[in-house]
Amino acid sequence: MTMTDTAGRGLAVLEQRVTEDLAKVAYPSGRWVTPHHIADGSRVLDVLIVGGGQGGTAIAHALTRQRVLNYRIVDQSEAGFEGPWNTYARMATLRSPKAVTGPDLDIPCLTFQAWFEAQHGASAWETLNKIEKGDWVAYLLWLRRVLGLTVENGKRLERIEPADPYLVASVRDLASDRLERVTARKIVLATGIESSGRWWTPPVVEALDRRYWAHTSEEIDFAALKGKRVAVLGAGASAFDNAATALEAGVGSVTLCVRRPELQRVQPFRWLSFPGFLGHFYTLDDAWRWRFMNYLLSLREAFPRETWQRVARHGNFEMRTDAGWDAVEVMGDAVRISTPGGNLEADFLIVGTGFDMDLSLRPELAGVGEQVARWSDRYAPPEGEENPRLGRYPYLGPAYELLEREPATAPWLRHIRLFTFGATMSFGPSGASINAMKFAVPHLVDGIVRDLFQEDVQDHWENLIGFQLPEFLFDGEEGEAAPAVPVIDRG
Ligand SMILES: Cc1cc2nc3c(=O)[nH]c(=O)nc-3n(C[C@H](O)[C@H](O)[C@H](O)COP(=O)(O)OP(=O)(O)OC[C@H]3O[C@@H](n4cnc5c(N)ncnc54)[C@H](O)[C@@H]3O)c2cc1C
Repeated sequence: MTMTDTAGRGLAVLEQRVTEDLAKVAYPSGRWVTPHHIADGSRVLDVLIVGGGQGGTAIAHALTRQRVLNYRIVDQSEAGFEGPWNTYARMATLRSPKAVTGPDLDIPCLTFQAWFEAQHGASAWETLNKIEKGDWVAYLLWLRRVLGLTVENGKRLERIEPADPYLVASVRDLASDRLERVTARKIVLATGIESSGRWWTPPVVEALDRRYWAHTSEEIDFAALKGKRVAVLGAGASAFDNAATALEAGVGSVTLCVRRPELQRVQPFRWLSFPGFLGHFYTLDDAWRWRFMNYLLSLREAFPRETWQRVARHGNFEMRTDAGWDAVEVMGDAVRISTPGGNLEADFLIVGTGFDMDLSLRPELAGVGEQVARWSDRYAPPEGEENPRLGRYPYLGPAYELLEREPATAPWLRHIRLFTFGATMSFGPSGASINAMKFAVPHLVDGIVRDLFQEDVQDHWENLIGFQLPEFLFDGEEGEAAPAVPVIDRG
């Protein structure tokens, strides 16, 4: 969207309002977290946020509001390329309804709607169908700027180790290849939807030469597929977005194969987007959490009408149901695909088959993932509800903390908070979800604030005993009295 001069002024006015509104809700405004230092005298970071996408941004915003200011955000990608939006998210608009809020943390002037209206007016908002992807990225970058958040781009977390009572994160600066060891009290992994495991590809496809296939999460040279026959496997939004991108790039044809007998068109997110479920799912007992998630995670997330229309309008698009790929075989320059309903030939395959959960596969969690409690360690579902896939999800504590698989073997794991799709079994929609952010982020940050306070209770007690600032001085008395505005600054 282009901005007019007036629109530009609208944003400036909004930014002024942001400054004023944040000042109005800044109470209590002083730093309060007890500074910790290591032997060489350097200050321990209170929180290291890994991932500067929408999740990391919202977490930093929430920490700032709680006056936990000694944090850093690192992200391995280049600035503006955090998350999937500018790389493999191949859709024009977000799939969520435009009314969704999240990183604003319920401050009206920080909502997407406020940002949009400041530039395009209220009537443009009224007529807007869905949020354009580019606008979502621009909004997130705007939010980062007006909140004064700094993301250290090009820095990758490579390892986490315990250093009682802290954690040490090895963070590589990708430009200089320099490795920094960051000592932190808490580490939040806001590393994205797939980052608690790996993108999954059916083994029959994985065995093929790479020139014949790609996963939807990868870079794909669609221009090189012009005129070619493309087969796509998957029934989710990403499979359809990739099919549409291929069609728009002028491929010869796209056959999209859905393994199930019918395409799922019911969107479970519509049902579950209410405060009880989004805010309190984690309080249910294991049996209920398992039952709900066994049902919800076995459904594909349905996609909006626009995604369907984007492929359906092409005459060279075909969808086959009951068409899982039993076998694939290279025949000259093409691949023959066998499905229960018959064979098909394609020049290039794209798989949109989601991801698999397994923390131990993550390089940055080497030596950590294996020690983490999974659902299969803590809960045995009744007959009829077995699901090994769900059993691989981490079993998180009530503040998103990793828990040790074997008692007393790795208590330090609780200092790591997992805010990715891996949290879904324990919390329902939470990490890596816009819809749940307004509930999940404050809860995550409350847990951190609670720990930072409780772990230093002795220090807070001694501080209270030493707190001798009178409210006022008697006439002629020398010394300092408390300021009119109550500020405690211990940072
Ligand atoms: C294609 C696609 C489309 C989606 N569309 C929607 C939608 O329309 N509506 C909706 O509600 N949700 C959608 N989602 C789900 C979700 O909102 C997004 O995945 C969103 O990006 C999650 O935000 P995040 O901040 O948790 O993770 P991300 O945005 O993925 O950010 C994670 C960041 O962590 C960084 N990182 C990862 N590992 C490391 C490391 N070791 N060291 C340093 N940095 C690291 C990455 O570089 C990345 O920038 C979509 C997801 C995908 C994949």
